[in-house]
Amino acid sequence: MRQGLVVLVASIAVAGSWPTGAQNAPPWDERYRSLPDAAAIGRYMERLSARPHHVGAPYTKDNADWMLARFREWGWQARIETYEVLFPTPKERLLEMIAPTPFKAALEEPAIPEDPTSGQKTEQLPTYNIYSIDGDVTGPLVYVNYGRPEDYEELDALGVSVRGAIVIARYGGSFRGTKPKIAAEHGAIGCLIYSDPRDDGYFSDAVFPEGPMRNRDGVQRGSVMDLPMYSGDPLTPGVAAVPGAKRLPIADAPTLTKIPVLPISYGDAQPLLAAMRGPVAPAAWRGALPVTYRLGPGPSRVHLKVSFNWDTKTIYDVIAMLPGSTFPDEWIVRGNHHDAWVNGASDPVSGMAPELEEARSLGVLIEQGWKPKRTIVYAAWDGEEAALLGSTEWVEQHREELRDKAVAYINTDGNSRGFLQAGGSHTLEPFVNEIARSVIDPETKGTVWKRWQANRISGGSPDARSEARTRADLRIAALGSGSDYTPFLQHHGTASLNLSFGGLDEDGIYHSIYDDFYHFRKFSDPGFLYGRALAQFAGTAVIRLADADLLPYDFTALADTAQTYVRELQNLLKQRQDEVKERNRQITDGVLVAVNDPKRPRPIPAVEPVPPALNFAPLENAVAALTRAADRYRKAAAAGVPSLNADPVRLRTVNARLIQSERQFIDERGLPRRPWYRHLLYAPGYYTGYGVKTMPGVREAIEEKRYADVEPEVIRAAAALDRETALVNGVAENLERMGK
Ligand SMILES: [Zn+2]
Repeated sequence: MRQGLVVLVASIAVAGSWPTGAQNAPPWDERYRSLPDAAAIGRYMERLSARPHHVGAPYTKDNADWMLARFREWGWQARIETYEVLFPTPKERLLEMIAPTPFKAALEEPAIPEDPTSGQKTEQLPTYNIYSIDGDVTGPLVYVNYGRPEDYEELDALGVSVRGAIVIARYGGSFRGTKPKIAAEHGAIGCLIYSDPRDDGYFSDAVFPEGPMRNRDGVQRGSVMDLPMYSGDPLTPGVAAVPGAKRLPIADAPTLTKIPVLPISYGDAQPLLAAMRGPVAPAAWRGALPVTYRLGPGPSRVHLKVSFNWDTKTIYDVIAMLPGSTFPDEWIVRGNHHDAWVNGASDPVSGMAPELEEARSLGVLIEQGWKPKRTIVYAAWDGEEAALLGSTEWVEQHREELRDKAVAYINTDGNSRGFLQAGGSHTLEPFVNEIARSVIDPETKGTVWKRWQANRISGGSPDARSEARTRADLRIAALGSGSDYTPFLQHHGTASLNLSFGGLDEDGIYHSIYDDFYHFRKFSDPGFLYGRALAQFAGTAVIRLADADLLPYDFTALADTAQTYVRELQNLLKQRQDEVKERNRQITDGVLVAVNDPKRPRPIPAVEPVPPALNFAPLENAVAALTRAADRYRKAAAAGVPSLNADPVRLRTVNARLIQSERQFIDERGLPRRPWYRHLLYAPGYYTGYGVKTMPGVREAIEEKRYADVEPEVIRAAAALDRETALVNGVAENLERMGK
């Protein structure tokens, strides 16, 4: 029935199209934008989210087979690629408070009568954090806010230690996997992570099912692997997890946690927090539970016991291709994951369903006579939620092929109503802006670009405001991690984009059983209009990348962005120097002693050495040279691009060089402490996990006070910029010769 509808939609679109070869037919990307159908996106979502579909679930394979059949029905060459990965599931989960009053945590999300899929108990994964180690620990509780490095600095300043304690951190502020990592570095023996109603519960709106926010039993599942080390199967770093691959013993896998971890609801957290004593938490740390937030340690003592089935599971990537007619060895790759924690209507299906509708619509264009010049590869990744498994293993398996062929990777992962959210390689910043000027916002009926700009103007600082009003292009964000672009961009060096709409609705169902079709249709994008806009946006990007004579990379935006990073680094150092000088002065002047409260004394810190002056000249020079090269390239490209008909060989040569432009930022040695991450401009922060660190080698050395490491990293980043400059100058020269 549902499949029949899809075919019907396709045939209507064909019937309303232009005859092949019509003289005044609009460009293919313009024709394309009339094809995606919002109702079809809704039907795919209903199908894909009908049952739980985590790694290893029967319905995950069922979904993969269903998508495979759809791709084939729409004219694609499609196959499923599989990998064998470590995917532990809970065997035992116990959390109890043994003092001062006994309490046993429920660790259970109840079914809700009006939500039809919430009762699929037998297929749901219990609430847990994947890649926690087994453990059985008992200790006093310490509240650590979001569990970020700065939170531990504050605890130190207040004289509270987590050594030998079980920490309770709230979700938010950082990637969940960094919370147990940092807790363990400070000597904690266990880690609880709970969803505070201040962050995604009743503080913002009514809770589910009355409203969209997290209810008292809702739990955020999720991975706690050390993602900033490497993504993918914990046992096969850097190589594909195929039969026969060399695998680490589980005990040696560096991305598993060092201490046991369990996520809990605020219903389960409240009695634990209410029983705590010790200093009152700083004002910014207090959540929205009706308790006085205190730091501990204790007197709440908890017993945490978790153990897992350490199973290997098969994951199913659906890979579909439309072969290119002119440049078949240049690939445009587009992906979204299909696995979820439970039903996952929002995460990931609100991105996966539009991707499928793109695939159907591109199939329609092919029927109308479109012949994409480059090969288009559409992927539906499995296992993203655990560790970006499907995308990482695929990139690791196909690395040789991708090195020459991968032009760009376009990722989505979830979508809702509102403003464009675009992040990625800055060589694609003008390209993204052009597309935003071509796609219509479904609510305002203006362009997506106009609404994007308005959001920047209304929400920004005075500087950001004036820039959004006057700069030709709006800036795109740099990518950290948290979705499938990571192996492409930061390991492999493929120019990448991550796209979505959002910013208008808040919800609190992330990674719970309540992220389902019922919730999405009631509270998110009921008519799937932004799903359609996303399909229009990403599909337009794919078509323009596939058909461009000269690949649409630009280096001016890149140089401008690199310039801002260098300035930020200089300011960061200056700020650190000023802070240390001021604090030292307050220590030696006796200011800290004089303001100390004898009732609640804070330890007086020791005087610290002031951060040294550091030489950023290599980076400044490299950015200046890249700026000149980018300018030269722009002029050369504007003066004349080799035409496909007149000089296909030269065009091919030029594009082959351009494809390598993002790879110039790859350094085979990788980043300090984490060689799998090899991009010297963008990386997920070692202590933020999702949050990006730009020029990470340099920035993290300053942030972590490893000042001796700064200048060598400055030189390495400058060398990467110099490689890029040489490439850009070389291509510009080639184009200039062409113009003569
Ligand atoms: Zn996702």
